[in-house]
Amino acid sequence: MRSGAHHGAARSTGDGLLLDLRSLNDIDIGRGRPYGLGGHRPHCRRGRWALAPHGLAVGFGDTGTVGIGGLTLGGWIGFLSRRYGMTIDNVTAAEIVTADGQVHMIDHEHEPDLFWAIRGGGGNFGVVTRFRYRLAEVSQVYGGPLILPVTPATIAQLASASAEADEALTVIANVMPAPPMPFIPSAVQGQVVIVARVRYAGDLNEAEEAVRPLRQIAAPVLDLLRPMPYAALLDEEAPSKGQVVAVRNMFIDHLDEAEGATMLEHLRRSNSWLRLVQFRVLGGAISRIAADETAYAHRKSAIMVNVVRAVENDESAARRWTVELAEALYQGDDGAYVNFFGPADAHRIQAAYPGNTLARLRRIKATYDPTNLFANNDNITPVAGS
Ligand SMILES: Cc1cc2nc3c(=O)[nH]c(=O)nc-3n(C[C@H](O)[C@H](O)[C@H](O)COP(=O)(O)OP(=O)(O)OC[C@H]3O[C@@H](n4cnc5c(N)ncnc54)[C@H](O)[C@@H]3O)c2cc1C
Repeated sequence: MRSGAHHGAARSTGDGLLLDLRSLNDIDIGRGRPYGLGGHRPHCRRGRWALAPHGLAVGFGDTGTVGIGGLTLGGWIGFLSRRYGMTIDNVTAAEIVTADGQVHMIDHEHEPDLFWAIRGGGGNFGVVTRFRYRLAEVSQVYGGPLILPVTPATIAQLASASAEADEALTVIANVMPAPPMPFIPSAVQGQVVIVARVRYAGDLNEAEEAVRPLRQIAAPVLDLLRPMPYAALLDEEAPSKGQVVAVRNMFIDHLDEAEGATMLEHLRRSNSWLRLVQFRVLGGAISRIAADETAYAHRKSAIMVNVVRAVENDESAARRWTVELAEALYQGDDGAYVNFFGPADAHRIQAAYPGNTLARLRRIKATYDPTNLFANNDNITPVAGS
């Protein structure tokens, strides 16, 4: 199944039969009712702009070309998640075609096991042809890129300011060489900095106060924080070079100066044009959901980290670099987030679905897809002998 074709391991590409879902693109907004019916969207950009005139939003992808099929089925953690929950927490119903060709309308009351499984379990259980989402009232936000000078202390301060902030404030921080983008001063391009993507989705009158602790960390290299329509945040997306990257996803409990120093040491060891450590402080509404309420079970994990490096001539060197840096940051959380899996992560399915989650998913898989017809994904195999 292909929605936005954005999967890090190209799971919607390959040999076999391709179900290209991009023409399933209707959007039905339930005006005046508590729920909206969001049609399946290949790209979240159009969905976001369709909701904008109504002052409504779903926490779809923060990158416009990501598809809502893959992003929703894996969970999605984005700029609205600390305030309104993950995207799966706002799915109230779905239409799914299972391996036997049957169409199921599922929600908390109808086939609740299957409904549980598709909220985090990926495309393992059938072809989702429609999602219904709970909509949030979000129109204007305050945010943009904030580039800070990097030291172990500024990394640690940004992590703690993000954790202490109001839930309406979300920071996605990349410690990386400043990219060659026109709005970044040329003297800074190529130097390691913190590129923080900041969004405050609360009362605009309180926005300046909410972001003040971020601005106080150090004199910003660049401060483009400003009011903007929520839908416009997609316009910040850098044009894709179709670059293949090695990615290692993990969770950590705390990000202090020691972890900041580790990040910088490893970033300085490489001269790849694209190398970064991304961190996102989670918590808020994400962590108020019980671990077994959806198939995304990492509700108590405090900080998500993605270590990324471009695969240039030597793929194994790029992978080794990401794994070594991730191992140096390891604090005992063995979990990983399936939506950031790359080609080398097939063996990490237990990390994505810890505890009883994988066993439950495998039983549901055996009920709805006993022959593992839907296998080109982060695969959950049906429990044997069921
Ligand atoms: C630039 C970029 C930024 C990202 N940022 C974030 C982020 O901020 N937060 C986050 O949580 N994730 C993020 N991701 C990860 C993203 O959520 C996943 O890669 C997601 O799987 C992409 O969905 P897609 O529909 O575009 O992918 P596809 O490659 O089309 O599909 C991904 C998987 O889902 C299956 N699938 C797709 N649609 C359906 C369907 N309708 N029914 C059944 N199965 C289906 C496919 O078969 C495939 O296995 C990002 C990825 C990229 C490339």
